[in-house]
Amino acid sequence: MRYTSTQDALVDVSFSEALLSNLPKSGGLYVPRNFPKFDFQKLIGFNSYADLAAEILQPFTDFSPADLKDIAKKAFNFPVPLTTLDESLFYLELFHGPTAAFKDFGARFLAQSLKNQSGTVLVATSGDTGGAVASAFWQLPGFKVRILFPKGMVSRRQELQLTNWGFNVASYAVRGTFDDCQRLVKTAFAQGHADLRSANSINIGRILPQMVYYAYASILAYKKNKNPSRVIIPSGNAGNACAAVWAKQIGFPIQHVVMACNANQTLSDYFKDNIYRPRPSISTLANAMDVGHPSNFERIRHLYSENEIRFKKDISAYSVSDTQISQTITRRPYQQIICPHTATAFYTYETLEKEKDENTILVGTASAAKFETVVEPLIQETIPIPKMLEETLQRPSHFQEISADENEFLELIRK
Ligand SMILES: *Cc1c(COP(=O)(O)O)cnc(C)c1O
Repeated sequence: MRYTSTQDALVDVSFSEALLSNLPKSGGLYVPRNFPKFDFQKLIGFNSYADLAAEILQPFTDFSPADLKDIAKKAFNFPVPLTTLDESLFYLELFHGPTAAFKDFGARFLAQSLKNQSGTVLVATSGDTGGAVASAFWQLPGFKVRILFPKGMVSRRQELQLTNWGFNVASYAVRGTFDDCQRLVKTAFAQGHADLRSANSINIGRILPQMVYYAYASILAYKKNKNPSRVIIPSGNAGNACAAVWAKQIGFPIQHVVMACNANQTLSDYFKDNIYRPRPSISTLANAMDVGHPSNFERIRHLYSENEIRFKKDISAYSVSDTQISQTITRRPYQQIICPHTATAFYTYETLEKEKDENTILVGTASAAKFETVVEPLIQETIPIPKMLEETLQRPSHFQEISADENEFLELIRK
């Protein structure tokens, strides 16, 4: 498989090159040059999640089958439950990894894929990415991790997950917004240090592994009643939705991809009037989705560039307010205790028409236990802390507060 750019068809690189070089130099984002087709019926009897992952990802990588199996086994070493909520309604819980959010899938696959390399991983986070990346690269020989997060804009437990690693991980609380953190990271990359590695969701190594759980869930749902699925995904930067669209593209039984967004309306507005208007992000209860310029949407549009009709048939986006998020959490739909991000999917589901002969898969992106300050007062109950999360939360926290000034930041990372 070769990779090209969303903005320059002349770009032609291997998977390993795309992994290491963050972004194509001539602009745009890396995308697969073509999409292999799988006969999902042949994969119905898969042995384990890691086996299925190796099978699906093989044509997308330049790793040997043995290496890829080993990478998949180490990266996906936690459960991926698909719960049945109702006859044709399923709940895909993507938050049973070490940092209790779906970012563990991409971050762990990326770290395992890079493990024979070295470098400094620089990552801006609005909440969950930084913890997942730190956890995945923690004590990995040859790697340093530098995390930037907006000071005071992440939950207490998210902050602990960003700051309590030590060893090869250092964290910076930026006096500014997530957009400021991203700007600082971009400035550093623009300096062209060969040693810097990106672990943000623009990195192809994070998106590809996310296809696997859509393949997995759509197969399991299909096994129940022979119907294809619609997936409803809490979305911000649209990386997770892009992975679902790609899983559909390579032949898995996915009918439609719904992006459930928070009050940041760039995507839902686009589906209303066909104009893409990026804007500054606004902060909401679902903070990991506070994105005003969802970068991965470019990848989705690239796939459909010549077919507007199919695009609208396959994909849609809706916006959910903080009030609707709170009300949904409070109601405990289907007896589930859900996080503010996941609530956007549950809420959106209830507003949509139910199609006959179609399953719906609601995607749970984080554990409610990570957002206890929002969820506990609403449900008036203490949420038990998952064991994996508890272990990380017990270590001491260290971080340095910095300004959002580009020159100060460049000075800092030069040291
Ligand atoms: C990152 C994140 C999202 C948004 O995912 P995108 O791929 O950026 O659309 C949603 N929910 C949680 C909990 C997240 O951490």
